[in-house]
Amino acid sequence: MSLKNRLAGMISATGPMPVSAYMTHCLHDPVDGYYATRPGLGADFTTAPETSQIFGELIGLWAAHEWQAMGAPDELSLVELGPGRGVMMADTLRATTRFDEFQSAKRLHLVEASPALRNAQADRLSAFDPVFDDELSDVSTGHTIILANEYLDCLPARQFVKESGEWRERVVGLAQSGELAFGLAVDRAPQEVAEAGGGAAEVQPGLEMLVDDLKARADAGDTFRALFIDYGPDTAAPGDSLRAYQAGEQVSPLAAPGLSDLTVDVDFGRLKRLARSAGLQVDGPVTQGGFLGALGVQQRLNTLIKHQPDSAEALFRGTNTLVNPSEMGARFKVICLSSQGLPPPAGFG
Ligand code: SAH
Repeated sequence: MSLKNRLAGMISATGPMPVSAYMTHCLHDPVDGYYATRPGLGADFTTAPETSQIFGELIGLWAAHEWQAMGAPDELSLVELGPGRGVMMADTLRATTRFDEFQSAKRLHLVEASPALRNAQADRLSAFDPVFDDELSDVSTGHTIILANEYLDCLPARQFVKESGEWRERVVGLAQSGELAFGLAVDRAPQEVAEAGGGAAEVQPGLEMLVDDLKARADAGDTFRALFIDYGPDTAAPGDSLRAYQAGEQVSPLAAPGLSDLTVDVDFGRLKRLARSAGLQVDGPVTQGGFLGALGVQQRLNTLIKHQPDSAEALFRGTNTLVNPSEMGARFKVICLSSQGLPPPAGFG
C-alpha cells in the first residue's frame, strides 16, 4: 500500500495529524519515507557540497582552525549531522590531509537517519572508519566539532495559522473526497506562537532538542563548536514555508508523500534566542557568501584554477553559485553555537 493510502488510513483511524507528524512520516517512514528509501540528492535537489568541492574544503580548513583554537586536543569527535552522500565530509577530510595531528586526533561520527544514505556514506568515507549514530546525544562527550549542511531544514515543523484572532494548529486530515487536505485543529497554540506577528507561524521542536543537547554538553564541561548552514531568514520568523520538491520541481506538499523532499525555512532568530538562553556562545547568522568569502573562497578558487586550467569554467561557475547573493550566497545563512570560553570562530568576522 502506498504511503499516501497508509496516511489516509491512519488519519481516518486516529484523526488529523500535525504537519510535523506528517513530515516525519514522509521523510522517515522505514518502508516508503523519502530519505529512508529514495533520497533524491542531485536529482530532486542539489546542495552546496554537491555543487562545488570548494565548499567542503573550506569547511575542512575551518574545522582544523577551530580544533587549533581549542588547544589542538589529542582527541576530537568530528561529527556531521545529515551527511547526505558524504561528499562534504570527503572534501573536508581531503583538504586537511596535511594537518597530521588534526587527522590523527579526529574520530569521525556520522549522525544519519537514512539506511540508504548511511550506505553511501560508508562507501565514500570507508578509509576514515566512521561511527554511525542515530542521534547527536549518542556521540561521546569531549572535544567536539559538529558540522551540518541542510540538516536543520528537514527537522519537522509545526504550523500555526491565525484565524479570527485565534492561533490554531494546521493539521493534515482528509477531504470529503478522501484525499489528504490541510485543516485547522481546535487546540490553542503555544505561548511562543501567540506572540508571533503575521498570520502564520512555524515552529521546529527539533531546534529545542538540539539546543538542549548542546546545553547538556556545555554543562558537562565539554568544549565544542557546532556549525549550521541552511536557508531561512536571519531574524524574521518563517510563516508558511513548508514546500516539496520532486525532480527539481516544486510540488504540493500533500501530492506525493514519501516521493518528494519536504523542507521548511530555518528560523535562525529563534535558534539564536534558544542558544543564548541556554548559555551558549552564538556567532552569526551571517550569509553563506560572507562566510565563504571570509574563509578565502577567492584564493582557493584561484589556486584550483591554476592547477586545473581545463576545469576553470566549471570551478568558477560552482563558486559563483555558492557565493552570489542572487543564487545561494544570501539566502543561505551560517550560524555557530559554541561552549563558552573559545575565541571567536573564523568566518564571522
Ligand atoms: N548534508 C548533505 C545532505 C543534506 S539532505 C548535503 O549537504 O548534501 C539532509 C540530510 O539529513 C540527509 O542525509 C538526511 O537523511 C538527513 N536527516 C534528515 N533528518 C534527519 C534526522 N532526524 N536525523 C539524522 N539525519 C537526518
